[in-house]
Amino acid sequence: MFSGEASMKIHVAEAFRQVGNRSEPPEIQVSFYPFAGLNHTIRIRKQRVYVRVSDVLRDAPQQVYRALAFMLVSKLYNKRASTEDVKLYRQYAYQPDVLRASDLARQQRGRKRLTGSDGFTYNLDKLFARLNRQYFDNELTKPTLSWSARRTKRILGHHDYVHETIVISRSLDDPQIPEYLISFVMYHEMLHMKHRSRIINGRRIYHTAAFRADERRFDRYEDAAEELDKLAGR
Ligand SMILES: [Zn+2]
Repeated sequence: MFSGEASMKIHVAEAFRQVGNRSEPPEIQVSFYPFAGLNHTIRIRKQRVYVRVSDVLRDAPQQVYRALAFMLVSKLYNKRASTEDVKLYRQYAYQPDVLRASDLARQQRGRKRLTGSDGFTYNLDKLFARLNRQYFDNELTKPTLSWSARRTKRILGHHDYVHETIVISRSLDDPQIPEYLISFVMYHEMLHMKHRSRIINGRRIYHTAAFRADERRFDRYEDAAEELDKLAGR
């Protein structure tokens, strides 16, 4: 009996021979990956093929691996996968208990990702502590700080006052992002803790005049605002 990785590798190689008409298949690396949900990817980098299969399919039968291998390689060659393969894959993957497993995996990962303020480049606890000292006389109580699960580009920060949580987009956890920029996003969210929203003429206003005035106290306000405009325009 082969492991899931080894048998998937054999099927991917066969798919390259048949779909890609290659006598010699490329070097292939297969790994099961804790994707949220039923996600699988195939990539070529430097003549090597990298296949990542959602670990929800770890116990799938051989025919399902084979069908998935052919679907992935067809995608690579911009060809339509055969109806039988798609049918085989779907019949298995869309079974209620497989779907439930993928749902469960997604939920657990969603929850897991919500903990931890330490990113690859920035640490949200440290950022918060520094800004609290510099601008708020240490008067803000530290909320739950977390990176977003996805690398959201349009929403860079969010303050949830019900759960006392500040979420910062994972897209900012990047050495290309200058520290003053992520600091400004965090500072903005911290201002939401200080300035509660107000109802004015029947509308809830989050960014009151006092909020905006405080926002301009940020030491690199002009630079940060300009950079954010550029990011939003991308
Ligand atoms: Zn805001």
